[in-house]
Amino acid sequence: MEPFCSQTSVKTNYGLPKPKASYFPTNKDSPLCVNKTFYDGIAKTAGKGERKLIEKFVIPIRSAKAWKVPKRCVCRIIAVEGPQVGDLDIWNFNNPREHMWAARTRQLQSAHVSVYDRLWSNLPFLRPLVTITGDSLKNRGQDEWGGRCHDLMGTRCDPYVDKLLSGEDNDFHCHSNLTRAVMPYGLTEYDIHDVLNVFQLTGLTDKDQYFMEPCPAKKGDYFEFFAETDVLCALSCCPGGDLSLWDWGEGDEKSNVDMTSCCRPLGVEVSEITNDDVLKGWKEPQPPNYKGNHGLKTPVFKR
Ligand SMILES: [Zn+2]
Repeated sequence: MEPFCSQTSVKTNYGLPKPKASYFPTNKDSPLCVNKTFYDGIAKTAGKGERKLIEKFVIPIRSAKAWKVPKRCVCRIIAVEGPQVGDLDIWNFNNPREHMWAARTRQLQSAHVSVYDRLWSNLPFLRPLVTITGDSLKNRGQDEWGGRCHDLMGTRCDPYVDKLLSGEDNDFHCHSNLTRAVMPYGLTEYDIHDVLNVFQLTGLTDKDQYFMEPCPAKKGDYFEFFAETDVLCALSCCPGGDLSLWDWGEGDEKSNVDMTSCCRPLGVEVSEITNDDVLKGWKEPQPPNYKGNHGLKTPVFKR
């Protein structure tokens, strides 16, 4: 049966001017004007021996792990064995009500992210939690179908949508993996939010529907960010692996599809920057100083 789609692939020319990005800097000191030299300096510490590894681990297939990245540190996610997508959630370590906000980041940066992009937090905070400093796939650009890497449009896979679409109970979706991973930090399923899909190639079809293509990462590819504040990260090795065999459910026995065959682990490294000069001038970003109260006034009593 042809699935329903309200959108058309036909374009109508209304004679409109070409639209520009709606979220833009209004002055040279805008938080959207990133200091590239500063972040280049951070990226270069990797090749200069100006980093001290403070944590390193590998996340096995179909599981997740949560970890702290202290502010002023860098965190690298590595495709240690080959293509594999990772679903990344980020919170303020000291206040998990502040967390990454995928929708606003799409507007302030773009729907796919790479070097110099920030991952912004939700309201009433709205500040960069991390800034991306390294991406070995940054030159890949856009493919013939409009697919781009490191996706903020989709979200994590979850057992509810799988049950809805396939009728099966599967317990190792990214939502479940992330839920188990954050429990030691006192967080629950309700704290899991829309993710950054690292190493995931996605776009919209000519009918405006979300698509995913096989993961383009090769062994050794990495994605790296600088923590602008203390953050708690959680990363799930998606049970869809490199997405080359993506389907709902686990595939039926007749088709002989074993989705674990395209699943690989992901590595994580957290490092301190040992050359203080590199971070000279850095300040922890603060939320905008909005002083209104959404228009509410405190009542004034006459006596
Ligand atoms: Zn997933």
